[in-house]
Amino acid sequence: MIDSAPGLVEALRAAVPGGVLTEPVDLIAYGFDGTFYERTPPLVVLPETVEQVSAVHRIATARRIPITPRAMGSGLSGGAVPLAGSIVLGVARMDRILEIDEIDRVAVVQAGVINAHLQAEVEKRGLFYPPDPSSLKQSAIGGNVAENAGGARCLKYGVTGDYVLALQVVLPDGTVIRTGGRTVKNVTGYDLRRLFTGAEGTLGTITEITLKLLAKPKHARAAMAVFDRIDDAAHAVTAVMASGVLPSAIELVDNLTMRCIEENSPIGLPLDADAILIFGVDGNYAGVLADELATIERLAREHGTREVRVAHDAAESERLWTARRSISPALARRRPNKLGEDVCIPPRAIAELVRRVRAIAAEHALEIPLFGHIGDGNLHPNILCDKTNAEEMARVAVAARAIFEATVELGGTLSGEHGIGLLKKQFMELDLGPDTLAVMRKIKDALDPLGIMNPGKVFPDPGGMEAFRL
Ligand SMILES: Cc1cc2nc3c(=O)[nH]c(=O)nc-3n(C[C@H](O)[C@H](O)[C@H](O)COP(=O)(O)OP(=O)(O)OC[C@H]3O[C@@H](n4cnc5c(N)ncnc54)[C@H](O)[C@@H]3O)c2cc1C
Repeated sequence: MIDSAPGLVEALRAAVPGGVLTEPVDLIAYGFDGTFYERTPPLVVLPETVEQVSAVHRIATARRIPITPRAMGSGLSGGAVPLAGSIVLGVARMDRILEIDEIDRVAVVQAGVINAHLQAEVEKRGLFYPPDPSSLKQSAIGGNVAENAGGARCLKYGVTGDYVLALQVVLPDGTVIRTGGRTVKNVTGYDLRRLFTGAEGTLGTITEITLKLLAKPKHARAAMAVFDRIDDAAHAVTAVMASGVLPSAIELVDNLTMRCIEENSPIGLPLDADAILIFGVDGNYAGVLADELATIERLAREHGTREVRVAHDAAESERLWTARRSISPALARRRPNKLGEDVCIPPRAIAELVRRVRAIAAEHALEIPLFGHIGDGNLHPNILCDKTNAEEMARVAVAARAIFEATVELGGTLSGEHGIGLLKKQFMELDLGPDTLAVMRKIKDALDPLGIMNPGKVFPDPGGMEAFRL
């Protein structure tokens, strides 16, 4: 591609001095994300300023060269994997926290700021940025916004998009726009913040984000409830959510997932149980948290828990959350690959989906550990596999499709937080229907008439679900 675009490398080098990679050994690192897809880009450009991003877009537009924006490459739907000869536009060097304002309670950050870094900085000032993807140490705010990422605490506090007050975005042709502002309320015009949030890099490159901050709750506690039947755990979740108590998090971890965690770094999880629930509660009054934990314990017992262990101090709580965050790498030790799903269903349907996923695993002779942010119905059935085994991958594809179909039938959606990317695009019509998908296409065509932004993502290739292959 570089050879057939004379002057491209020189133009980019002039626009982004010292920020253009062309050596194969450098490019390999930009060809994959957290999925098993791989496509080495022909070229990577790493701008440091919005002016440089805009210049890259203008050069790409003039030459009809596709661009795949990339933050930290931790995505789980293939979104940052460059297709169709795309160059990669990485924002990792745009990693400055520009402002933390304690009066307005906002943070202004460049797109490449790591989530955990921002959390640590705002917490030093008694402030709080709730969205906490398990990848918080290896994902950036730009990637979080582009995927509208969630996390454990999003049950109580909402997802990334609920904290986006303003965005600076470079449109495909290089035009720089700002949308939103510093006010909590803002209904002036179409809500373009929401449009670019979760657009997975298909409409433009996000360069700067203004985020809403909260005051940090003074206390946080965690507890684990142990169940001999995962069904009981699912019913306990529904009961807690209907009780008026709003935990900061309710996470499900099933037996196979616990075994993977314990093989990876043991913390003494109950391996004879079918599933555990990890509950988080937080707030400013310790007495209220104790009451909430008592209600959770009572409801868990009414729904068959055999034991509730309340973490006695912050260190014990942190061990539980660290174990939860270690699931993805722990699964990677069991089989070479995994297809990580991210379906989301209404609370009423949680137990039924859990039952169906287990039936699908048995029917296709696959290991599907089940975990997720169960309080908000967001489940991550991960299909363990070996991508070099064609026969197994064919079964994985059939099982993945069956999970999507069950989810939609139960009133749920394909993705709660990981996005569609490459992995789920063939199922978009199943979830949205043809008319809504057609509206999305019109928006895409209006903003990106040349189709240069992150091609091959989100929109299905011809053939729909029948064309789904891994
Ligand atoms: C161990 C592990 C745990 C995870 N846990 C969670 C979780 O709990 N919750 C959750 O939501 N996700 C989770 N994820 C998925 C992933 O971390 C998130 O989707 C995250 O938001 C991706 O951020 P990133 O910086 O790595 O983005 P990337 O992977 O680099 O990019 C993701 C998408 O955003 C686009 N993009 C990136 N930067 C920009 C930009 N500046 N402008 C426009 N588009 C852009 C890319 O084109 C791509 O489509 C997890 C991943 C791993 C590996």
